[in-house]
Amino acid sequence: MAEENYYEVLGVERGASQDDIKKAYRRLAMKYHPDRNPGDKAAEEKFKQIGEAYAVLSDEQKRAAYDRFGKAGVDPSAAGAGGFGQGGFGGFSGMNSGDFQSAFGDIFSDLFGGGRGRGAGPQGPQPMRGNDVSYTLEVSFEDAAHGRKMDIRVPAWDECTSCHGTGCRPGTSKKTCPTCHGAGVVRMSNGLFQVQQTCPQCHGTGEVIADPCPDCSGTGFKRSAKVVEVNIPAGINDGQRIRMSGKGEPGTNGGPAGDLFIEIRVRPSDIFERDGDDLHMQLPISFVTAALGGEVTVPTLDGESRITLPEGTQSGKTFRLRGKGIANLRTHQPGDLYLHIEIETPVNLSDKQKKMLRDFDASLKEGGDKHNPKSQGFFDKVKNFFQKK
Ligand SMILES: [Zn+2]
Ligand SMILES: [Zn+2]
Repeated sequence: MAEENYYEVLGVERGASQDDIKKAYRRLAMKYHPDRNPGDKAAEEKFKQIGEAYAVLSDEQKRAAYDRFGKAGVDPSAAGAGGFGQGGFGGFSGMNSGDFQSAFGDIFSDLFGGGRGRGAGPQGPQPMRGNDVSYTLEVSFEDAAHGRKMDIRVPAWDECTSCHGTGCRPGTSKKTCPTCHGAGVVRMSNGLFQVQQTCPQCHGTGEVIADPCPDCSGTGFKRSAKVVEVNIPAGINDGQRIRMSGKGEPGTNGGPAGDLFIEIRVRPSDIFERDGDDLHMQLPISFVTAALGGEVTVPTLDGESRITLPEGTQSGKTFRLRGKGIANLRTHQPGDLYLHIEIETPVNLSDKQKKMLRDFDASLKEGGDKHNPKSQGFFDKVKNFFQKK
């Protein structure tokens, strides 16, 4: 094999810092690691070269020797020529596998470190936080406005009652993991050094289920439901979420439970329309009440209110009832209720009623325009409109 240049192998400059060398090595080791390139001889060869280059360049003493004498300064197989093999540098022959472990240890704990994912390590299974659970809760308009406590049933996992959580068919028990023989870890060698990994079969427990429980398929858990009391705060709006910490799925191996997220859906009201903390409603009144004024009953969130309308109230007029809106979720200050007046035209009139109205209409005409403030103004505008043309 031609003598490759360690700097070129790692793709760094001759004056590269230790940091750059380490970065370059990490990047290349990830790329050519045998786990990622199964059966690829070229990748395996490359991986060995990278390892060799890094072992030298990451050690300032060996790097200095390499810089001065090339491989002869560090490689015992070439030592005969320069005679440095017996010197104080210590070539590869001086490195036992323990040195390799320390040279690579920090990097490999970064690259392939345990504890992440469904973590288990040589210490055994790691605590895992439970999953978050989402739940959509539909509430009435009034409940969202006033707030209330509600019990909801959310999906949950319970310990399987058949196997009491072991996952083994009743009457059987776990057996020693055949892959790691109970150690919980496996050692993988790629010829150059060894990497210790959590056993993929038993996830570090050292035991496997020989005969799975038929009721839970060996998981030890069964789907169930649990009742959770939800405190719906007054003023919550459609689409807002309530977070209940620790009310999600249980953790495993002593890990904390996940959270429960409740998304609120507010059913629309037949009467009120919500705009932030304010409410709006259409208030139908008879044309007699509109003309004469008088008391009308208005529904509000707190029950009925009586308000007095002035004489001559026009259709479309808006009245505001202060503080009769929805309490703000944070400040608890209530918004206002806006009444939009709608004058109702009477229908299904008897002949007698029709005659009364015609007589009434005639009396209005005798009075002239003063009874019709709106149409008077309107017809003036129409006249102006056509005159401009
Ligand atoms: Zn079971
Ligand atoms: Zn195992």
